[in-house]
Amino acid sequence: MSLPQTMRAVLYNAAEQLSVKEINVPTVGDDDVLMKVNFCGICGTDAHIHRGGFNVKFPIVPGHEPVGTVAAVGEKVKDFKIGDRIVADCSVVCEDCFFCRRGKPLYCTTFGAVGIQFNGGFAEYLTFPQRKVYKIHNLADEDATLLESAACAVHGLDQLKPDVGIEVLVLGSGPTGLILAQLLKLNGASKVAIASNKGVKLETARKLEAADVYYEIDRKAPDEAWQRLAAENPMGFDVVVNPSGAEKLANVALNYVRRGGTLMLYGVYDETAMVHWPPARIFREEIKIIASFSQTLCFPRAVAYLDSGKVKVKGMVSDVYTLEQYQEALDKMETRDAVKIVIKT
Ligand SMILES: [Zn+2]
Ligand SMILES: [Zn+2]
Repeated sequence: MSLPQTMRAVLYNAAEQLSVKEINVPTVGDDDVLMKVNFCGICGTDAHIHRGGFNVKFPIVPGHEPVGTVAAVGEKVKDFKIGDRIVADCSVVCEDCFFCRRGKPLYCTTFGAVGIQFNGGFAEYLTFPQRKVYKIHNLADEDATLLESAACAVHGLDQLKPDVGIEVLVLGSGPTGLILAQLLKLNGASKVAIASNKGVKLETARKLEAADVYYEIDRKAPDEAWQRLAAENPMGFDVVVNPSGAEKLANVALNYVRRGGTLMLYGVYDETAMVHWPPARIFREEIKIIASFSQTLCFPRAVAYLDSGKVKVKGMVSDVYTLEQYQEALDKMETRDAVKIVIKT
C-alpha cells in the first residue's frame, strides 16, 4: 500500500487560532512506527492548549491520546507489523538531564508530549519510536483512547501506594475519576465513594459500578449532598482524591480527610488557582498532601487493566466528532455534558 504525501490535521498557529490544514505525512525513521490514527481522545489538557497554556509550542497539531493501526514500519522495527492495532505513549523525556539521569524521567526538565510540543494525533498519521507503542487486542479503538488517562491513573496509585482496606473519596466522575475509582477498588480499597455533580458523568459511574457509594451534587442545591457525605462519614476518608482540577474542590477536599489520611491532588489546575488550608490541622492530624502528575512508563499496566476488561471503560465515550468539528468538540467539553469526547480522523 502506498502512503499519501499529505494528510488533514488540526493545526494551531497561535492560541485559539485553529484550522484543518493539509500538511505532510511524517517521515518514518528506521526505528519508527507510522500510525494511521483512527481515533484521538480530547481532554482537559487540550482545552488548556487551546488557550495557549500547558507550555504549548505553536504551531502545533494537538492530540495526545491517539489510537490507530500500523501503516508502515522502519527497517529496525521487529515487533510491529502493518495492520497491528496500537496506542502510543505520548510522553517525551530527554534521558539526559539531572532528573532523567537519576531515573526520575517524570521530573525531566524538558518533560513534554506529542500533541503539546510536538505534532500530535488530531491528524491522519503520526510516527512514534517503537518503544513508545503498545498493541491492543480486545479494546475497541474508541475505548482505547482512555488508555492515556488510565496510565496517569496507574501513576496515581504508584504515588498513593494504597494500604489494604482503605476508604476513599473521589471528587468528580470524569474519565480519570472513573478509572481511578476502579483501580482503587482493585488495589486495596474496601470502600470507594464518588461525589460528583449530577449528570451524564455520574450516570456513567453508576453504570460502570466504578464506586460503592455515590453522592450526587445538585448544582442548584449543592449543600444537601455535602451534608449527607459528612453525616454518613463522620470519620472522613483515609484518602481523598481530587481529579477534577477544580480550585474550589481542592479547598474543600481537606475537610473529608481523616486523621493520618492523605489528600491527593490530581487534576490540571489553572496556574492562578490557590488553596487556603489550616496548617494547624494538617500538623495535628498528620495529614499527608501528595500529588500525581501525568505518567512515564505506566502504559504496560494501563493496557493490561483495560484490554483485559478488569477496568471497564465501555460507554465512557459519549461523543464522537470529526477533525473538521474540532472546535465543536471543545465547546461540547466546556458544557460538561459529556464524559469522554473523541475525534474520529
Ligand atoms: Zn489527556
Ligand atoms: Zn530529562
